[in-house]
Amino acid sequence: MPHDIFKCILSELGPARPVTVRIRPQVINLLVGDEAPSYSFDRAGRLIGAFVSGRNYRRGLDNRVLEKWSGPDGLRQRRWLDAGAAQTLLIGIYDLAGRAAAQIDDPRLAVLRGWDWPALQADADRFAQVYRPVSILPPDQYLALVVQATEGCSYNRCTFCDFYRDRPFRVKGPAELWAHIEAVRAFFGPAIALRKSLFLADANALVAPMPRIRGWLDVIDAARLLPRAGIYSFIDAFDVGRKTPADWAELAARGVRRVYSGMETGDDALLRFLRKPGSASDAVDAVVRLKGAGVAVSVIVMTGIGGDRFAAAHVYGTIRALSEMPLVAGDIVYFSPFVNRPSSEYGRLAIEAGIRPLSAAEIADQEAAIRAGLRFHDPAHPPQCARYDIREFVY
Ligand code: SF4
Repeated sequence: MPHDIFKCILSELGPARPVTVRIRPQVINLLVGDEAPSYSFDRAGRLIGAFVSGRNYRRGLDNRVLEKWSGPDGLRQRRWLDAGAAQTLLIGIYDLAGRAAAQIDDPRLAVLRGWDWPALQADADRFAQVYRPVSILPPDQYLALVVQATEGCSYNRCTFCDFYRDRPFRVKGPAELWAHIEAVRAFFGPAIALRKSLFLADANALVAPMPRIRGWLDVIDAARLLPRAGIYSFIDAFDVGRKTPADWAELAARGVRRVYSGMETGDDALLRFLRKPGSASDAVDAVVRLKGAGVAVSVIVMTGIGGDRFAAAHVYGTIRALSEMPLVAGDIVYFSPFVNRPSSEYGRLAIEAGIRPLSAAEIADQEAAIRAGLRFHDPAHPPQCARYDIREFVY
């Protein structure tokens, strides 16, 4: 991949420090010394991530910063920086980046200059005007270009989920989607190069009727927005059957590569407790239908949900359901540790039912038990299995 490397020395604040700046087609990297600190920016100059003093930082487009580090026990720790700490960190980074850009004097680095705190906040305000909150994405789609063809969740009643409780479900028409895409394109500017895939949001966007989805895809084509990696979206298992195999094949032909489906558990009693419609066999049928049409699938399992009461049945049912699915390479099984979100109903219902929550160690054991029991259709080409920690989501 072509990139340009520049070196400079920064010495205004203390000892001289060699700085390497690498300009790539999608990102600008800045490295102090041999290894760290290091920083990455998109081509509009927005900080994406930083590694400083053994800690990782991710900046969201809403100007919040997530800090991650390994605790003394080796377990991952994380916290959102308060506004003061975020401001101190970001202003320090942009001071360094601005001085490096001034020394190197390449016009492509001009985007690193002029980012004071009001400018960063104003950028976050622009983001909030273009998007409703981007509530969640699968981990492999954190760098997708989100296009909100719908708003909210068409179901919105699962007891553990409060991602979309702040908005009613709404399907956009082609004209409104066109205006949204124009706004998205203007917001990202040259930084759109970083976005390899298109994520059709919010939840269950593909539940929309086929004529409406065809209209969206026409708009995306006309806007020349379809990226090489194609289109990705959430869909719940109980919604997959609303489309025919021919519909799904058509969507695959028009660029839908993979859909993400929250099965949560293969235990039907637990599904009912979560107020999740459908059954484990519906989830299996959904994967069969999607795979048959040429759409890859990611199945999301929520580890720890149902606490001690459902633990054994959750492990057993989930192994059975996943093993019945024709999942192969290109598909993903995500294990998402349950996080009790304060405004969801699940916590109250679990207490009323006398359910003991599992500890972090028990949740990790549950994931290990499910993984150990899985028997995939094609052992030579199994799906990827990975962690999906919603506490790490940053857009
Ligand atoms: S888990 Fe999915 S289907 Fe259930 S309310 Fe949340 S977004 Fe909607």
